[in-house]
Amino acid sequence: MEKTLSIVKPDGVEKRLVGEVIKRFEDNGLKVIGLKMVAMSKREAEGFYAVHRGKSFFESLTTFMSSGPAVVMVLEGDNAIERVRDLMGATDPQEAAKGTLRRQFGSNIERNVVHGSDGPDTAGFEIGYFFHALEIAR
Ligand code: UDP
Ligand code: MG
Repeated sequence: MEKTLSIVKPDGVEKRLVGEVIKRFEDNGLKVIGLKMVAMSKREAEGFYAVHRGKSFFESLTTFMSSGPAVVMVLEGDNAIERVRDLMGATDPQEAAKGTLRRQFGSNIERNVVHGSDGPDTAGFEIGYFFHALEIAR
């Protein structure tokens, strides 16, 4: 079974969408096997998004991600990585397909409510960034 990391970003928490996002995942067969709220510092947000360092949106993105609490979770299921990406929709809510979380709830290309790992390597890194082995159900 594949694992992936998802985050309800600070805008999603502020909009009271934590339950809505988790329900969407659970209704689509994904299982929550790790879950907690975190308040990332700017440094911690920069570490999480290190792959984007140097890009035009890096400064604003990491300021946003450290602006308030976020809910991080590990999800498990067949094809979990791709399925979470499909449920989220495209990065820009205006380009995301109808019915996706970002299309429904995202404000703009930065404040798009939810994160999902984009491949097995990043999922491994991202899960390890937030969770100790003991915090993941087996
Ligand atoms: N982002 C942004 N401007 C952009 C591209 C991305 O603010 O032009 C933000 C947005 O919050 C996005 C995150 O940076 O979710 C990571 O970007 P990525 O390209 O990895 O998109 P994702 O994998 O989240 O769809
Ligand atoms: Mg990405």
